[in-house]
Amino acid sequence: MPELPEVETVKRGLAPVMEGFVFERVTLNRPDLRFPFGDDFITRVQGQTLERLSRRAKFLDAQLSSGDRLFMHLGMSGRFCIDQPGAPKDNLGEFVYAHDTNPRHDHVIFHMSSGARILYNDPRRFGFMELIAPGKPSRLDHLGPEPLSNDLSAPVLRAALKGKKANIKTTLLDQRVIAGLGNIYVCEALYRARISPRRMAGRLKAAETEVLTRHIKDVIREAIEAGGSSLKDFASTDGALGYFQHRFDVYDREGEPCKICDAPIKRMVQSGRSTFYCKACQG
Ligand SMILES: [Zn+2]
Repeated sequence: MPELPEVETVKRGLAPVMEGFVFERVTLNRPDLRFPFGDDFITRVQGQTLERLSRRAKFLDAQLSSGDRLFMHLGMSGRFCIDQPGAPKDNLGEFVYAHDTNPRHDHVIFHMSSGARILYNDPRRFGFMELIAPGKPSRLDHLGPEPLSNDLSAPVLRAALKGKKANIKTTLLDQRVIAGLGNIYVCEALYRARISPRRMAGRLKAAETEVLTRHIKDVIREAIEAGGSSLKDFASTDGALGYFQHRFDVYDREGEPCKICDAPIKRMVQSGRSTFYCKACQG
C-alpha cells in the first residue's frame, strides 16, 4: 500500500509531464474505482490546464484552470505509468512505459498536451479520483499538519495528544493528528524515539514529544529521499511510479534481531493493525 513517501514520489514523477499542460483527452475504461467517477468527470477535466500538482497526506491534489480540484488516491494497489515514446530516460518524470502491469487494469488514461499519456492502473480498485468544485468542502479539510511542514512541531503535537487516552501508536495513525502518517512510519518513528507503542498518548512527556516529532520528520524525509533516487531507476524497471524498496528497522521484521540490542523484534495488533517494536528498547 502506498504511503506518503510513495505518493510524494509519484507527484514528483508526474509533475514534469502534467503540470502546466492541458488534458487533451480523458479516457475512462470503467464507470468507477472505489467510487463512481460521476457523469461529468470527462467534461470537467478535458480541455483544462493542470495548473499545479501537489500532495496532501496521501492525496494527489491537481488544481485545474477551471477552479476545480482533482483529488487522486492510490488506494491499495494504484499506480501511475507514464507513456512517452522517445522521451529521454534520464529526466525525472520522463519514463518509458514498459507494460508489465496488466493493461486490463488501466482504468484511466490522461492524454496530456506534453505528449505524455498518463495511465492509472489499479487491479484492486481501492483508489479513487474525485472532483471538488471551488469552495466546496472536501475530505482534505480536516487533516492534521503535514509531517514535513513547519505546521508540525513538538508543541503542536503535544497539544494534539493532550488528554488522549488511546495508545500513542493508534493515535498517530489518526489523520487529524498528523496527515498522511501510515502504519510503517509510525512503527519506525516510535522505535527510533524509544517510546512504547502501548503508552497512553496524553501521558507523553514534553521531551519525549520533542524526540518523537524529530524522528517522525526524519523517517518520512529519508523515505522520500529514497523514493527520489528510485525515480531515476524506473525506466530500467517497469516504468511505474510509486513503489520502491526501502529498508525498515522494525516494520515487517518480527523475530529478527533489533539492531540496537539484538533482542527479537516483536509484533502485536493494535486497533486491527500490526505494530512492530522492540520490547527491550521501547520499554
Ligand atoms: Zn532493541
